[in-house]
Amino acid sequence: MTPLKVLLIEDSPTDAVLIKGLLSRVPRAHFDVETSEELSTGLQMIADGGFDVILSDLTLPDSQGLETFQRVFAAAGDVPVVVLTGTDDLSLAAQTVEAGAQSYLVKGKIDGNGLARALRYAIQRTDAEHAEWHSPMFQLAQQQFLKAAQIMDLDDNLRERLLFPQRTLAVTLPFRRDDYLEVETVFGYRVQHLLTMGPTKGGIRYHEDVSLGEVSALAMWMTWKCALMRLPFGGAKGGVRIDPTVLTSHELQRLTRRYTTEILDMIGPDKDIPAPDMGTNERVMAWLMDTYSQQVGHTVPTVVTGKPVVLGGSHGRKEATGRGLVYLIEAAAEHLELNLRGATAVVQGFGNVGSNATRFLEELGVKVIAVSDVSGAIYNPRGLSVSALLSHVRDNRVLEGFPDGEPISNAQMLELPCDVLVPAALQNQITEQNAERIQCKIVAEGANGPTTLEADEILQDRGVFVLPDVVGNAGGVTVSYFEWVQGTQNYTWTLDEINSRLHTILVDAFRRTLDRASRHNLDVRTAALIEGIQRVASAKLSRGLFP
Ligand code: NAD
Repeated sequence: MTPLKVLLIEDSPTDAVLIKGLLSRVPRAHFDVETSEELSTGLQMIADGGFDVILSDLTLPDSQGLETFQRVFAAAGDVPVVVLTGTDDLSLAAQTVEAGAQSYLVKGKIDGNGLARALRYAIQRTDAEHAEWHSPMFQLAQQQFLKAAQIMDLDDNLRERLLFPQRTLAVTLPFRRDDYLEVETVFGYRVQHLLTMGPTKGGIRYHEDVSLGEVSALAMWMTWKCALMRLPFGGAKGGVRIDPTVLTSHELQRLTRRYTTEILDMIGPDKDIPAPDMGTNERVMAWLMDTYSQQVGHTVPTVVTGKPVVLGGSHGRKEATGRGLVYLIEAAAEHLELNLRGATAVVQGFGNVGSNATRFLEELGVKVIAVSDVSGAIYNPRGLSVSALLSHVRDNRVLEGFPDGEPISNAQMLELPCDVLVPAALQNQITEQNAERIQCKIVAEGANGPTTLEADEILQDRGVFVLPDVVGNAGGVTVSYFEWVQGTQNYTWTLDEINSRLHTILVDAFRRTLDRASRHNLDVRTAALIEGIQRVASAKLSRGLFP
């Protein structure tokens, strides 16, 4: 067995001997440990290279606390860093993990096997991140999870189990162009993060950036979202790496049918139920349902949600994410004692989520002063007319050219002063580069992963209320659940019933989240994640482990 090369940065010679001793007695593992008693020599040894993992104390003669970790981490590059310290401090632990530590271990609380496992896992995770899983979004989802896990002191076995998805399928699929000469081959994915809670559930995204890592991040967020809403689903997600806006309707249909065929074994009404996400809509869901039904020989409406009402879709599903987001903006405004009548909003993205959120905000008397899409942003300080925007997009596909407003860039739009900022397009929009210049009271996340960890912290320090994605955009999956229930019962609910149940579920989850945040002095995102992770953890522990 090849030994794992460990750099131990530890100022106490007694502790160093103890740690080496612990590692040398671990069965079926071999560690080759070199030590440094100071940070400066440790950094030099890192620069010389050759280590698989770094195990570092935080209190050293020439550096203390989080700063020690930050300096080791900055020098380490691709080499994973595990912290082993005598300081049993929850907030320091959370900050260290958030800053990129693979684990925060406390001396005296960890035995040799635990330590060896932490080192081995740190190496495995880093290897995986650098291979097919590599994606900033998956990194963000994992860091958010690890931070929450650290704060809630999640069982180490569960932490490792939940950090990567349970099942993934990567396919390549060909489809014919309309000229019937050219065949395009593209990558597609379906990822099921967790099979413990019931069937898995999650959208299908068509976008040119789709990758296994991105889909895995989205699947993980679906798990926490479903658990937080107390829906009987685990998280899943799928996607095809293609720009759907350049495809004709026939090409889109052929692509969808072939993709469905490739993932057929994985999906089913009791197994895994897709829904729309970015770049897909109810028409795509109808093709997916038809292809699945053709293959199994009878009509199976419950294999997808977000399908047209005439095929067994639910009233209110199409607008559910935007509607739910606005229910939650109302609840957040009430919490902050902010009067929404006459308040101003800026909405990034004018697709399913963004356009519906804009519509419902206008109904509440909020003045929407700017909206954007892939073609750019439109600004009008007197307020934009939502019906005029919708009819412009119906005729022109994009917002560009909308007459009643000034064209500005997407980046400028995010920094406009307003009460509510709704990111409802892509991930990674509010970052450490622009977070200081965001000038709103509430960031209401319609999109998945629009705010980076660094930006989250800046917004929190500046007193901006962040309504995190796992709560903010959960209206979609909640009404998808209603659609699935109606389908399995062959019964239809009215729009009023749907909306009132949606309101109850979302506001209840929001209140539980706020309550947890204030009881444990947490930011709202971490409180929401812990609320979801806790439920998953107890379900996993109740089911036991097979075999
Ligand atoms: P969509 O495809 O209907 O719309 C996406 C919008 O974003 C379009 O208006 C597009 O032009 C715009 N856009 C693309 N690139 C942009 C850019 N660089 N700058 C500004 N705008 C840009 O997608 P959707 O279903 O509305 O999804 C949007 C977000 O909401 C995604 O993050 C998705 O995961 C999330 N979400 C959607 C649902 C749902 O039910 N559809 C549910 C939960 C979360």
